[in-house]
Amino acid sequence: ASIVAGAIGALSEVMGEAQRAAGATERLLELMAVQSDISSPAAPLALPARAANGASLTLDRLQFSYPSRPDTHALDQVSLDIAPGETVAVVGPSGAGKTTLFQLFLRFYDPQGGQIRLDGVDIKQLDLHTLRDAIGIVPQDTVIFSNDAMENIRYGRAGATDAEVIAAAKMAAAHEFIERLPNGYKSFLGERGVRLSGGQRQRIAIARALLKNPPLLLLDEATSALDAESERLVQSALEAAMVGRTTVIIAHRLATVQRADRIVVMEDGKIVEMGTHAQLVAMKGVYANLAALQFHHVHAG
Ligand code: ATP
Repeated sequence: ASIVAGAIGALSEVMGEAQRAAGATERLLELMAVQSDISSPAAPLALPARAANGASLTLDRLQFSYPSRPDTHALDQVSLDIAPGETVAVVGPSGAGKTTLFQLFLRFYDPQGGQIRLDGVDIKQLDLHTLRDAIGIVPQDTVIFSNDAMENIRYGRAGATDAEVIAAAKMAAAHEFIERLPNGYKSFLGERGVRLSGGQRQRIAIARALLKNPPLLLLDEATSALDAESERLVQSALEAAMVGRTTVIIAHRLATVQRADRIVVMEDGKIVEMGTHAQLVAMKGVYANLAALQFHHVHAG
């Protein structure tokens, strides 16, 4: 599931093409707030000063059911301590609760039990804007707006200079393909412009996230297969994106899970296994099965 991308896409359609992605995300949160009880607290707390290597994220006995399915635990007693700078890959079969976790991080919903703490602060105690500013999202399906390449990346942080946009594009391995477009950074993208490949769209999304420079990055890895060259470029972009921040990835690729500091395996709303790739393969459990069946292997050449 990719509700973040879907909802932002749907909203940007409704609100017109000029709408900035950052603004759309903000409005998305506001819209969700209107439709539910989620709102900023009257007296929000501040986050502590940002640490050099990113934020800590604590999931403390999370208990959650979707309002429409009160009898099903989408998350059941989920506890996890993620250290600043750590890269955690979340894997598990469809319906395990991976996307639900991301939705709770962003406060699209509040858990019925337990707590999520960002740098030690219960996210319900933060202003929604403070929370949103601290989290970068690289969705599965990147929304490309009908605008030029420069502006498409600048959606990551309105007000960034051209030089900052280009620096982010270079780190995200997007600069070279943009330079080769007919009008470089001025090339018009989207439905009526240059159509980008899946790998190129992903690198635009990563460039946006780099420009935003959040202490916490949520990555919903694309499931679609890429050719070997695209795969290599996306992996190098991801590597750049993870430096100096805490990263949680819903992972579908072997290369990604192998590089993670820790792999968290979910099933039926619970964390069932945790460890490195080698440790989990040796356990011959849920992960070993997933690794054998589900991960996308790339065979170069
Ligand atoms: P996938 O890999 O297919 O994206 P996932 O691990 O991300 O799966 P979730 O999307 O988090 O799984 O779903 C967890 C459970 O919650 C599933 O049983 C799913 O059917 C249910 N669920 C997800 N979204 C909603 C919703 N909006 N309303 C009701 N139930 C939902």
